[in-house]
Amino acid sequence: MDRIYALPYTRLPHPRYKGKEIPAYQMIRHSITLHRGCFGGCAFCTISAHQGKFISSRSLPSVLQEVEHISRMPDFKGTLSDLGGPSANMYRMGGRDPELCRICKRASCAFPDICKNLVTDHAPLLELYSRVKEHPAVKHCFIGSGIRYDLCLHRTGDPKIDRANERYLPTVIREHVSGRFKVAPEHTAESVLQLMRKPPFSLFHKLKTLFDSVNRDSGIQQQIVPYFISSHPGSRLEEMAELAVETRDLHFRLEQVQDFTPTPMTLSTTLYYTGHHPYSEQKVYTAKSEQEKREQHLFFFWYKKEFRPAISTLLKRIRRQDLLNKLLR
Ligand code: SF4
Repeated sequence: MDRIYALPYTRLPHPRYKGKEIPAYQMIRHSITLHRGCFGGCAFCTISAHQGKFISSRSLPSVLQEVEHISRMPDFKGTLSDLGGPSANMYRMGGRDPELCRICKRASCAFPDICKNLVTDHAPLLELYSRVKEHPAVKHCFIGSGIRYDLCLHRTGDPKIDRANERYLPTVIREHVSGRFKVAPEHTAESVLQLMRKPPFSLFHKLKTLFDSVNRDSGIQQQIVPYFISSHPGSRLEEMAELAVETRDLHFRLEQVQDFTPTPMTLSTTLYYTGHHPYSEQKVYTAKSEQEKREQHLFFFWYKKEFRPAISTLLKRIRRQDLLNKLLR
């Protein structure tokens, strides 16, 4: 990893763009990749299929060398937009006993629970953040990549690791968020989260409580922005309406949402195309037609006046007056 990142990259777009503004480049030009791979195993994501389930991390000197390099870029004003990876906080994580990992067949080290063999120590990452911040040219250093909050909220029973993990989120919220703290619970319904291989939504509540208390105690006003997916296999109108009610009760007006797209080499795509769960062989419904997808998507925006009549009609159609009363009361 260190050798690859030490190659003399120009950090510039390909010359064929001829100086044109590229929005994606603006986002990443002052960002640093700390590691590759992801052991989260989310059913809809293909990262582990092409970067691997095991994390390959760069050394601290290699990262600091890149910080130095960026600090000399003529357009650098002191803000590193991201110190991350596929999941920002998996840096240096892996199995305690590599032999167990070698023969392990689990798709995820974090679902349905965090593997006892997995070391979730956030101390090396905290150390790295603080060393990067010490660079005289760095004024802000943000974490733009998604954080797996199940890993840092997990208590291992090892006092040293637990102390570091407890420190992780408050440090990030206070010092490394650019105003909007983006996280991806992806859905609220337990049945859908199970199919997605995601932690229960109760964990997001825990995160939100912690987030609010750090903001209050530190006198800051960061915003938490949750990401959700509609039309994932297993998600019906009921689950979307429940999602709308849940997020309404948390006072969210959702913006970061997307419609499920089947991606090659994932469990969700198998569910989507076959209509069956490959492990349990149970039937799984997926919204596929444009209309079904549009109907699911509507629930994200229940607060918009123009969508209320359509939402009301849909909930009456599926005979869920109870959800209608809760959502549009
Ligand atoms: S043994 Fe645990 S840590 Fe190792 S690969 Fe399997 S689930 Fe992940």
